[in-house]
Amino acid sequence: MKWSFSLGEFRGIKVYIHWTFLLLLLWIGFSAYQKSGDWNQILLSLGYIVALFLCVVLHEFGHALTARRFGVKTRDITLFPIGGMARMDKMPESPKEELLVAIAGPLVNVAIAAILFAYMYFSPTLYKIGAAQSFVTAEQMLPTLFLVNILMAVFNLIPAFPMDGGRIFRALLSMRLERTRATQIAANVGQFLAIGFVLLGLFYNIWLVFIGIFIYLSAGAEASQEYIEKDLKRFTVANLVMTKFTLLVASDTLSTALRALLDSHERDFLVEDQGAIVGVLTRDEMLLGLKTFGQNVLIEKIMRRGVEILPPQMPVLDALQIMRAKGLPILPVGYGKSLLGVLDIENIREFLSIQNVAR
Ligand SMILES: [Zn+2]
Repeated sequence: MKWSFSLGEFRGIKVYIHWTFLLLLLWIGFSAYQKSGDWNQILLSLGYIVALFLCVVLHEFGHALTARRFGVKTRDITLFPIGGMARMDKMPESPKEELLVAIAGPLVNVAIAAILFAYMYFSPTLYKIGAAQSFVTAEQMLPTLFLVNILMAVFNLIPAFPMDGGRIFRALLSMRLERTRATQIAANVGQFLAIGFVLLGLFYNIWLVFIGIFIYLSAGAEASQEYIEKDLKRFTVANLVMTKFTLLVASDTLSTALRALLDSHERDFLVEDQGAIVGVLTRDEMLLGLKTFGQNVLIEKIMRRGVEILPPQMPVLDALQIMRAKGLPILPVGYGKSLLGVLDIENIREFLSIQNVAR
């Protein structure tokens, strides 16, 4: 099931919109109608939300295009009702680069606010700076967008993960400290702030409670992600390769593959054709293939092609990145055409939990 659909592409980065965002539009339209009963007002409110989210998209592009300068690719940008998210392949590791990537987003909002301010200042119309009350009128549109951009910049600069401020804070700390230590401190400060938000929210505004909980959970996740990366840094693909595995044949039928699925603990399989690895067949693809074509379809028709053979000396972190980028849970390991074994994401997880207990 796809939860997001594409709005288009700019500079090679696709922009998606999550379906819950449409619920937000519906809700905004409906409440504008209830309060005013006027179609113009509904259109104006929707236009305001669209303009608002355009600012969010520009903010995310601020991150993405800065990251590109440092060789980090952004896969896509998705709009959620609570904001945008740019999926980058990784964060640049040098603190200075991470700092610039993180700060670029809020700076975009500052720039938009500055442009709006200049426009209002020099325009003959008299604008009153102040937030719109229950809904935006035409005169309030620009002043409200101005204020919201300032708020967006300030909110994102809160020094807590996953806000940009958390990354900026971590980057500043890592200029002096080791990165894992810096992440831990930044995460702790973020969680401390999050608890503050929840307490404040209980008295003043329920939204702060949600934001606090969200920040608290994200900060923890960021810290453990960093530990995982640190743990894996010492290992190469050769350390984690599995040599016992089932190999499927491209010209066999899906029923053979299903047999293999039932006969073992393996979920995803490598597929060979005349001695060479030609694809990967995952459990999900098997089930989808079964539903679409039935069990007599050939494996080569439903497998994923274009798998890369990982050299054993490759760092596990690099391998993980390839797997994530391609959305493949397993990849073959070997030299050229000679196959040594398979790297399996489940196995890496298992390995990490053993490391954790052994620590
Ligand atoms: Zn941002």
